[in-house]
Amino acid sequence: MSRSAFATIHLGALRHNLERVRTLAPKSRVMAVIKADGYGHGLERVARALSGADAFGVAAIADGQRLRAAGIDHRIVVLSGIDEAGDLLEVRRLGLDIVVHHDHQIALITADPDPRPLRIWLKIDTGMHRLGFDPTRTTALLAQLRALANVHDDIVLMSHFARSDEPADAATTQQLARFAAAGATALPHSIANSAAIVHFADARTDWVRAGGALYGLSVEHDRCGADDGFRPAMSLSSKLIAINRVAKGERVGYGGSYACPDDMAVGVVAIGYGDGYPRSAATGTPVRLNGRDARIIGRVSMDLMMIDLRDHADANINDRVLLWGRDLPVERIAAAAGTISYELTCGITRRVMFLEDDT
Ligand SMILES: *Cc1c(COP(=O)(O)O)cnc(C)c1O
Repeated sequence: MSRSAFATIHLGALRHNLERVRTLAPKSRVMAVIKADGYGHGLERVARALSGADAFGVAAIADGQRLRAAGIDHRIVVLSGIDEAGDLLEVRRLGLDIVVHHDHQIALITADPDPRPLRIWLKIDTGMHRLGFDPTRTTALLAQLRALANVHDDIVLMSHFARSDEPADAATTQQLARFAAAGATALPHSIANSAAIVHFADARTDWVRAGGALYGLSVEHDRCGADDGFRPAMSLSSKLIAINRVAKGERVGYGGSYACPDDMAVGVVAIGYGDGYPRSAATGTPVRLNGRDARIIGRVSMDLMMIDLRDHADANINDRVLLWGRDLPVERIAAAAGTISYELTCGITRRVMFLEDDT
């Protein structure tokens, strides 16, 4: 069997989504966050499609190496910054910006003999308690950094939200207040991620940092990217490789978790958790076949899944089956699997064939 699972990346959707972010935050510069291989869509491909962004955000220096090798000459920000002295060499060689969130990093920069100025994003912790300095230290930290000859004057002050996908919760407003209270008003500020760009006008400061929205993804409960005017940038599909008649009362798949309520047609689709489709997606999880919903029955296995064909008498071997994409929001699959859309697109495995189109 040749593999049949395809992830099609819609370059037009990526471009549309960047425009949508610009419409929502017309006064802000946009950092396109393309960590985790562009949320699973392909790092270089996404960077090329989003060349209209003002900067790219990545998790690691290695991503910066790949982007520079691909000829991307944008400003690139390493979101967790440097870990060891040797990183500074590479950061300079590649011309990367670094986030500074810890005293350990300031010590490395202070000890660095190279006089060429580094571009820094100073990260303060306004309530997420992951990375960042206490906001009360902001003024002193800026003075400390400015005193260093090898730090560029153009420092950006940044922070990150923990709960901007819950717009009714007070946590984001509180983080915004702490961010404002940190002062340093002369510096460019950056705090908004995708959900904040959509919901919190006050968060649309000098720089916004859009990740999920650019891929048409939402992490909000009961919402999908399309509800906010974004278009899905990935369609995952495979095909039907068998259609079988199974008798009433017989059980389907590993563990026999599904018992056929009728004599019925069962379709077998060539995709499974070995491709990154979540095994936790239970009976009832939707797929699309010939323009209509069908549903998974039984347990998703490594290479295959079974679907109920009782309402699909017209189905044929080799018919395409859409697992998520334009007509089937990945957010629905994520909800069925007990996770978020980001984890699903990031989890596509290497054996899946990637295609692109311009839509
Ligand atoms: C991942 C990330 C973002 C983007 O978040 P989305 O919710 O995907 O928009 C922005 N800023 C930082 C620091 C991040 O780690």
